[in-house]
Amino acid sequence: MSAISATTRLYALLGDPVSRSGSPAIQNAAFRAAGVDAVYVALRCSTEDAPGLLRAVARAGGGGNVTVPHKGLAATTIEEPTPAVVRTGACNTFWLEAGRIRGDNTDVTGFVTAAARLVGSLAGTRVLLLGAGGAARAVVAALLDAPAERILLLNRSRVRAEALLADFGAAPDRLELADAVEGTFDLVVNATTIGSRAGDPSPLDPTTLAGAGAVLDLAYTAGETALVRAARALGIPAADGQEMLLAQAAAAFERWFDLPAPADVMRGALIQ
Ligand code: NDP
Repeated sequence: MSAISATTRLYALLGDPVSRSGSPAIQNAAFRAAGVDAVYVALRCSTEDAPGLLRAVARAGGGGNVTVPHKGLAATTIEEPTPAVVRTGACNTFWLEAGRIRGDNTDVTGFVTAAARLVGSLAGTRVLLLGAGGAARAVVAALLDAPAERILLLNRSRVRAEALLADFGAAPDRLELADAVEGTFDLVVNATTIGSRAGDPSPLDPTTLAGAGAVLDLAYTAGETALVRAARALGIPAADGQEMLLAQAAAAFERWFDLPAPADVMRGALIQ
């Protein structure tokens, strides 16, 4: 980032909470490295204020990201959704293009990139997915596109899981609701919020991980999450949500500036 001047464009993360987000550090480092005249800030905002802020920031020539709990609201605020937004009902990246507010859900491509580092292609995989919130929807969209062979969905609230199943309308042998873990999986994905706070337990009894090909925890916190620790103790390749965070951030940067994202600089900023 060069010095802030009258031409500097504003990029903002809209959500609540936002104070622990790694995005400002990652994106400002990327802006500096790429020499773009922009600054990235995190704005904690209410459901009432988020749509107005999104429109104002975009119309002023900037853009940004959206996080919990406003991704669904953002999907209905933007004017030009990508297919990923339509499919998931969630928008995490917005910008102005040809006078219209465009939005994407880069969590979908972020998940694919992070999962590929663990299992290569997702095509034909059997996946156990924990959670049925916004992140789980991005994972399901990516897995159905791959296409994965079978997705077993486990969620605390059955109603929410059933709503996800209904919205995606996939064949029951491809996307199925479970009450307990049965079978073996090429990939186990945690898309619940368990793991996002230091000291959180594993969202899954570690003994049920035996035989899993790999584990991807979308949650991340300082140090390893309990799920990642448990998987590695069993010799199972595992990663936490930092890989996906970096991949979705790189995809967002490329939507905004139509430039290749400086991936190494972004990784370095997150590690710091
Ligand atoms: P949502 O609030 O939409 O969904 C939360 C999910 O967690 C629901 O399935 C919910 O179950 C479950 N859950 C919450 N508390 C508990 C609990 N005590 N026991 C069991 N299940 C619980 O959040 P998101 O889907 O947006 O985010 C989920 C996680 O993914 C977060 O940790 C987030 O930080 C992470 N994430 C990471 C990204 C990355 O780039 N690494 C990108 C996006 C998300 P129920 O339906 O029963 O309430």
